[in-house]
Amino acid sequence: MRMDVQRIHILPAHEAQKIAAGEVVERPANVVKELIENALDAGATSISIYLEEGGKKLIRCIDNGCGMSAIDARLSIAPHATSKISSVQDLSSLTTFGFRGEALASMASVCQMELITRLEGSPAIKLTIRAGAITHETIVAANKGTDITLKDLFYNVPARQKFLKTTKTEWNAIKQLIDAYALAYPSLHITLYHQQERIAQYNPAETIAQRASDIFESSVSKRLIALHKQDAVAQATMTGIISDHQVNRYDRSQLYFFVNNRWIKNHKLGTALLRGYRNVLPEGRFPYAAIAITVPPHTIDINIHPRKEEVQFLHPRLIEGLIEEVVAKALPQQAATPVTHFVHSFSTPTIPVQAFHIPVHPLPQTTTCVAPEIPLPVLPEKQVSTHTQVPQARILSQLKQTYIMIETEAGLMLIDQHAAHERILYETIGTRYKNAESIQLLFPELITLPRGHTINEEQYELLRNFGIEAEPWSENQIRISATPVYLKPHMLSALVEELTAHTHNIAHKVQAMLACKAAVKAGDVLNDSEMQELVHKWLAIENRLTCPHGRPTSWLMSNYEIEKNFKRIV
Ligand code: ADP
Ligand code: MG
Repeated sequence: MRMDVQRIHILPAHEAQKIAAGEVVERPANVVKELIENALDAGATSISIYLEEGGKKLIRCIDNGCGMSAIDARLSIAPHATSKISSVQDLSSLTTFGFRGEALASMASVCQMELITRLEGSPAIKLTIRAGAITHETIVAANKGTDITLKDLFYNVPARQKFLKTTKTEWNAIKQLIDAYALAYPSLHITLYHQQERIAQYNPAETIAQRASDIFESSVSKRLIALHKQDAVAQATMTGIISDHQVNRYDRSQLYFFVNNRWIKNHKLGTALLRGYRNVLPEGRFPYAAIAITVPPHTIDINIHPRKEEVQFLHPRLIEGLIEEVVAKALPQQAATPVTHFVHSFSTPTIPVQAFHIPVHPLPQTTTCVAPEIPLPVLPEKQVSTHTQVPQARILSQLKQTYIMIETEAGLMLIDQHAAHERILYETIGTRYKNAESIQLLFPELITLPRGHTINEEQYELLRNFGIEAEPWSENQIRISATPVYLKPHMLSALVEELTAHTHNIAHKVQAMLACKAAVKAGDVLNDSEMQELVHKWLAIENRLTCPHGRPTSWLMSNYEIEKNFKRIV
């Protein structure tokens, strides 16, 4: 007969804690995050952080918060020890970062820890902790606040230690985290040291924008736009900064979102922000942004991620919609400022936009100018800015058959003729193509679809919107029987190709492609009146800063820059 077999046993508490620690502490940046959050919860206004080897060897965080009594200090490293909640109900009204009471316990179990802390009116206590247990305790002299040192992360969990990345990678993750908190808490004084060198010193600032100028390099910080919006429907307040169309980067790493002051990662918020940048940045390029969203605590769930890096909104769509709207609204207005500043008083006559007759025919042909295939249509009424401050400019000449040089009151401006014309056409194609009169083709065009592609009903509908009558013909061909007059046959196959190449934003892409094909090109020589027509139509568009693909349409050398470079001013 078989004896009773026992294969299950309860793990010793210290082993279980080391395993559980993996949930909270995966890398040094997670430790730094927990320490900063504890300091903020303790009401600290100043934090100093010291790191060695990207935090792998040493992490020390000194704060001037409320500190702990000796009893609390001893308890603080026990699992589930927290002063912040008493029951799970408290989560719905939580205003602190911490609530699980597991950060210090987790850290203490996977590194060598030293905790010095002093509560106002009490002596300071120093605890030495090894593998989660207090091995030594003394009374010391210390300032009010807490000073925690962690050495040799994962020294007793080799399986985890080997997953730590290079010093540089771990350091970068920490630097990004510190910058995020610095942006979320402009008034927090932060000093950061790595390998005994002071890397950052962020003095208290009043706004995110001021703080951003300490964090981002000046080429970026001077291009930041401040945002502020309170929205009753979304029950949210949004403040922060975003970069304008002139700066961008290859990755999303400088998009920071904070929800109720908590730095969170939420891909959808990032996507909403990028939607706000549609038409402003080239595809695959990303802005700089730090956006703080404040919502009532009961409208978010912060307990969905082990490291509390994500939150779930009760009404995510409302928040995403708000971000998109706020960003989209902020961009053209702010960035257009230099241009709307041009006013009258040039020595040679300038032509105000409303006085300028915009012909309905194509740009005048010259022997060298390739005329656009889409006539420049009359601009819709709403797009001509009838203010007394009419953008005005004096055309100087064409540079490299690519740029138009103009003098404005703000300085010398170069306009990329192709990009600007693309934008003009893009803005007008939307309305014009949709109302376009189609003509029946005498010989319908058969367009072969790119291999492996089909056209679905939605895409046919889109073609109809553009005035194109199309139907399936064979497995890989469609038949086009009517088009708007200005659509040239060679543009049809390009259009269909564009239509099948994308799954998102198709209308925009098709519209951008048509504008691109029809616009004057770099290398086209333009005569004076062509340049004037182009410039004045461009100036009359609200959304003129970039081409539909996001390239800048113009570059202003401000009077200030010119005079500074010639050392007329200091
Ligand atoms: P939580 O933050 O979720 O409560 P932690 O393990 O991070 O859990 O901290 C446990 C407790 O230790 C906290 O609730 C707080 O009372 C105390 N504590 C931790 N860090 C500090 C600090 N820097 N200053 C004052 N008290 C602290
Ligand atoms: Mg905590």
